[in-house]
Amino acid sequence: MVSHFLFQVILFCAFPTVLSLEKNPHIRRVSLYIYVSLVLLMGGFLGAVFSIELFNSIKLSGGTIAYGGFMMACVLLTFLERDVFILQNIMRLVFTVGIFKVLLFAIVVKTLQADRVINALDVPDTLFELSIPLIILGAVLIIIELYLLIFMFDRFKHKIKGHAMLSLAYSLSFILVIIADGILFPLLAFGVQSETFELIIGNFSGKVLIGCTYGLFLFTFLLLSRQRMERVVQEPLLDWNLLLTSGKDIVEKMDRREQQLRQAKTVFETSREGIAILNMDFAVVDANCALVNMVNPVSADQGVLRNEKLLERFLSPETGKIAQQTLQSGESWSGEIHWSSPEMRRYGMLNLVPVIDRIGGISHFTLSLTEISELVHAREELRFLANHDVLTALPNRRQLHNVLAKDLQPFSGGICKALLIVDLDNFKQINDSFGHVAGDELLLDFTHRLSFCLLGKGRLFRIGGDEFAIWTHSLSSVEHAQELAEAVRREASKPFRLDEQNLVPLNCCIGISVYPQHAKDVKTIYQQADTALYWAKGLGKGNIKLYKQGMTDSRRQSLQLETALREALTENEIEVYWQPQISLHANHITGAEVLARWQSKALGWITPDIFIPVAESAGLMSALTRVVFAKACEALIQMPAALRDKLIIAVNLSARDMSDSLLLSDLLNLLTAHGLVATQFELELTENALLDMDTQSLTSFKQAGFSLALDDFGTGYSSLAYLNTLPFDVLKIDKSFIAQIPKESSSCALTRSIIQMGREPGREIVAEGDETTEQAAFLAAEQCQKVQGYLYSKPLPVGDFIEFCGSYPVRD
Ligand code: C2E
Ligand code: CA
Ligand code: CA
Repeated sequence: MVSHFLFQVILFCAFPTVLSLEKNPHIRRVSLYIYVSLVLLMGGFLGAVFSIELFNSIKLSGGTIAYGGFMMACVLLTFLERDVFILQNIMRLVFTVGIFKVLLFAIVVKTLQADRVINALDVPDTLFELSIPLIILGAVLIIIELYLLIFMFDRFKHKIKGHAMLSLAYSLSFILVIIADGILFPLLAFGVQSETFELIIGNFSGKVLIGCTYGLFLFTFLLLSRQRMERVVQEPLLDWNLLLTSGKDIVEKMDRREQQLRQAKTVFETSREGIAILNMDFAVVDANCALVNMVNPVSADQGVLRNEKLLERFLSPETGKIAQQTLQSGESWSGEIHWSSPEMRRYGMLNLVPVIDRIGGISHFTLSLTEISELVHAREELRFLANHDVLTALPNRRQLHNVLAKDLQPFSGGICKALLIVDLDNFKQINDSFGHVAGDELLLDFTHRLSFCLLGKGRLFRIGGDEFAIWTHSLSSVEHAQELAEAVRREASKPFRLDEQNLVPLNCCIGISVYPQHAKDVKTIYQQADTALYWAKGLGKGNIKLYKQGMTDSRRQSLQLETALREALTENEIEVYWQPQISLHANHITGAEVLARWQSKALGWITPDIFIPVAESAGLMSALTRVVFAKACEALIQMPAALRDKLIIAVNLSARDMSDSLLLSDLLNLLTAHGLVATQFELELTENALLDMDTQSLTSFKQAGFSLALDDFGTGYSSLAYLNTLPFDVLKIDKSFIAQIPKESSSCALTRSIIQMGREPGREIVAEGDETTEQAAFLAAEQCQKVQGYLYSKPLPVGDFIEFCGSYPVRD
């Protein structure tokens, strides 16, 4: 008998197992439902057909074996399909099959009882007799038991950890429900009476055996289906909310849900945003095309990312850990990330969100990635542009301040660091004469030279048109900084090739300030290097100056002076004084040199030795020249005509004036305005002024009628041969030679030879600074034509000068 029992059980276990192997979910589901319906239909019938007796006392009807098989198949179906409507479907099946069975059996009974029926096997019609109440009760119980089981399963999975333990708990609850059925069914069917208890006791061991046998199979099945079980743990088996809804509602809800799913699927597939679903281990379960294209553009296979731990690719181990912890605690995480694809580095906004299931647990995570590479590249370019110079791509002034601020933190230690500010000499002239393109070329060339020269020694910045800065952060000494400046200057002094014909020499001035010797903070070190540069430039081209205490004070003063001088020029504070020039030979006044004088309302008397250099460095010289010239004209026309017409007026021009293309026309306009002529004026120029000038402008002044005088003659370095080629009418011997006459024989000899060498037909020699009669006598003996000096008069205000002319013979 045992073997009969076992064969039946094996059959009931084998079929659902085989059906569960079907891969196509639709076929699998339908087959299992059909199978379950068949078992349901056959179960009631078999109960009436046979009952077997095992181990003498255990009675098992065919119905009980089928009932156990049915319950087990339903449980498997629930686990396999994880369809939240599964119990509703089974419930419907139970009712449909029940009604079908009742109707079919009733017809069969009637048919068997009919007269002309052939009943070849002599089947008794009682075999098909059914009790409708018992069928309904059985059906209701089955449904309740299934719901109870699934309910218990859903509770257990949050309480019991471990796959084996959970499988055991599920199987035990299955056994208990089967046994409970053995007690409940007779009680409900026949009421509380002694026969009922006998029936229960009689059937009890049978139910226990059935429960245990199928329970054992269930346990083995669950134990072997680890993956399925894990999925079941992540999602609830049943939607309890749907339990009481009607079939129509369920269909509607299902439709809606399906539609939502379809919409979600479309969004997922067509989104330009990369989307992936991650499992609880953060491995990719599914990823859309956009994400595959972003991350792995060479592969067309959408499954290429499956099982990959994407977060490891996107986030550093530390950030990854934080993100994972955040997600596990139920919170979202987002951040900017980057990854490399074959062609470039790419950037994106990553958003990670935990997916919460119906009972509040986390089942998955969604990953969405919006690519922002273009935005980031544009942002980086903007950042680069904000901190770099476009032409040379060197970091700019702003970046210099950032770097200094970072490197000069209070704890930056005692290592020597130096800031060098480099200013190219004459760069403006190169731009003006060769054009901006050539100027740019030169700057690039200079940048390359400097970068090469600084390799490993310091960083280079372009902080202005022709200003560069060098920041060195590891120097052994202050001298080291000066050596570096020397090397930079050497580079700058090598000629630059502008084009095929033009190789121009250039130079630069450099100001240096050293940390911590001079300055300890950004603002000070910058100001000091700038001040040192200012001083270096004041000394002339190609100078290097290390910052010294006191530079700032005098710079501040000169800035103050500069402001005051600007005002003086417009506020009419500049006066001209007249110093007579005397003909040694005829002993009469030939004219006067006009000299600028400044009595500042705020600062008092300021001598030309102080304000002329300030005007020069501040670019105020051309304004000063015009003021002095205009004042001289005004004074001249106030003079009696008899005096005025006899005087030659010498006016000083500066080096800058010679490159001032408007000066000549402005002077001529002033003359016209005052009714004067150029021939009455002599323009004094020093040798320095000649250096920055082409001889053409000299000629144009001369052609306009002005006489030209070479001032401070003898102090420059130009060869006399060169000076002789220039169209000067007057040479003014510098007062430093005259001062030593006649005490020092060497000065006498030098002056003598200067006078001789400078003598040319039609050219006058004038000596300045004649203070004594001895000097006058010496100069007369050497046939110097004119003198100017304190012996005759200091420079005088115009009134005093006119008075002086009245007391001294004036040229006829
Ligand atoms: P400079 O052109 O050589 O002018 C002559 C300077 O010698 C004047 O000094 C004058 O006062 C001074 N001097 C004249 N005779 C004697 C003397 O016998 N002994 C001594 N020790 N000095 C004498 P000042 O007026 O102080 O001007 C100094 C310099 O400032 C001038 O030297 C000139 O280079 C510049 N300067 C003055 N006014 C102007 C101006 O209007 N324009 C330009 N470009 N420079 C000017
Ligand atoms: Ca002069
Ligand atoms: Ca002079």
